[in-house]
Amino acid sequence: MVKVESFELDHRKVKAPYVRKCGTQKGRLGDIISKFDLRFVQPNKGAMEISGVHTLEHLLAGFMREKLEDIIDISPMGCRTGFYMTVWEDVEAEKVIEALNYALKKILEVEEIPAANEIQCGNYKDHSLKLAKEYAAKGLEEGFSSEVFR
Ligand SMILES: [Zn+2]
Repeated sequence: MVKVESFELDHRKVKAPYVRKCGTQKGRLGDIISKFDLRFVQPNKGAMEISGVHTLEHLLAGFMREKLEDIIDISPMGCRTGFYMTVWEDVEAEKVIEALNYALKKILEVEEIPAANEIQCGNYKDHSLKLAKEYAAKGLEEGFSSEVFR
């Protein structure tokens, strides 16, 4: 089995909510990417409902890119406690937190879920804007930190 970076993290010792810079990787042509964990919920103490995670995923996809143009991907963690994010270049966690706070504030204002239809989504009925807003509000209230083990 290949060594996986995130399996090296002791999930008992982290303090959510946080944005963790997992590291950077350099491609064969010299391009650099940075990988992050956007952890909303304390691991093994809770999890978000999938409908809320799904809606957050749709909303973060657009709003995060308004602040961070170089985003490659933001995807939900299977454990439903947060998201993985990959961006071009060597980006600092503080910059991601700024973008995330911006995106979460925007989420509190929206009245519609983008791309929540049969053409653009793989499970368009499984959404909850109410829950997405609850998770966004909770994240803003508790405050995302770049210090994972505070
Ligand atoms: Zn979808």
